[in-house]
Amino acid sequence: MVTFGTATAAPGEKDTGRLEVGETRDGSTFGLPVAVVNGVDDGRTLYIQAASDGDELNGVGVIQRTLPQLDPTELSGTILVCGVVNYHAFQVAEHRNPVDDTKMNRAYPGDKTGTSSERIAAATFNAAISADYVLDLHQGSTSQMIDEVRVRCGTRHRLHEECLELAKVFGCGYILDQKGPDGQLARAAPDEGVPTIDPELGGCVGWDEDSIQRGVDGVFNVLRYYGFLDGHHDARPQTRATGFEQYGSPVGGLIDLKPDLGDRVSRGETLFEVTDVFGEPKAEITADSSGVFWRARRLPQVATGEYVCSVGTNIDTY
Ligand SMILES: [Zn+2]
Repeated sequence: MVTFGTATAAPGEKDTGRLEVGETRDGSTFGLPVAVVNGVDDGRTLYIQAASDGDELNGVGVIQRTLPQLDPTELSGTILVCGVVNYHAFQVAEHRNPVDDTKMNRAYPGDKTGTSSERIAAATFNAAISADYVLDLHQGSTSQMIDEVRVRCGTRHRLHEECLELAKVFGCGYILDQKGPDGQLARAAPDEGVPTIDPELGGCVGWDEDSIQRGVDGVFNVLRYYGFLDGHHDARPQTRATGFEQYGSPVGGLIDLKPDLGDRVSRGETLFEVTDVFGEPKAEITADSSGVFWRARRLPQVATGEYVCSVGTNIDTY
């Protein structure tokens, strides 16, 4: 039997349940929605989670479309799933947990006697480090972004090669291979010896069907490549960035982005122009480095210093 929260499955079965983490403000117990798919044959364990950031719904879409397609009688090994990690943020469609105003993906490995976010992080981290591979499904919040996979352990980490291989297998087309900030699951789990990636499935308000489908394909690529499912997956070369440059606006006004997402940009090329409300040009911002136009804000209005866009730099093919 495999148990995750109240979900319990014998070999060849799947089950859903709740992973209890505490109580809400009215004293009701709450639990994260979890699932177990226990393969009829022995094998390795994959842990997948979504909505660690409460407004990032594409990962929930991936899980919702993937689970019905998984037949435990055709599976070797086990899949553990947490469909919504940031419970409180998800309820109110926000990025951060409103109970403690914390970003979940800065709270790993968590603390089971800590803050609201630390307790949720600790509960899900337990599941993550019981697995052989971890997929932590994210997106570019509500900005627009290419579909990419982040390797966050850093190039000098002992698990770097394994994480990078997992990213290549997932196969969104782009990889950002850059050490992430403290508290990310994709940093904390490799420290415990578990290859972990952070697929960033586009970005939107609501669901983006293309990005969700790319995520579903990524999960099945992983399942085939690592022997959970029969069949074969050849990992294809990915465009990799090891640098990431962010651009803010030097003035207030309305922006006009020049490249499209995924376009190659050259050093000195115009990234965006800012005009005032009467259409008069105020500023033109150019790229400091060559790279790939990776991410951009969704709304056109900006204040001085406000985030506008990002370029992935130091590009190679991996
Ligand atoms: Zn995120």
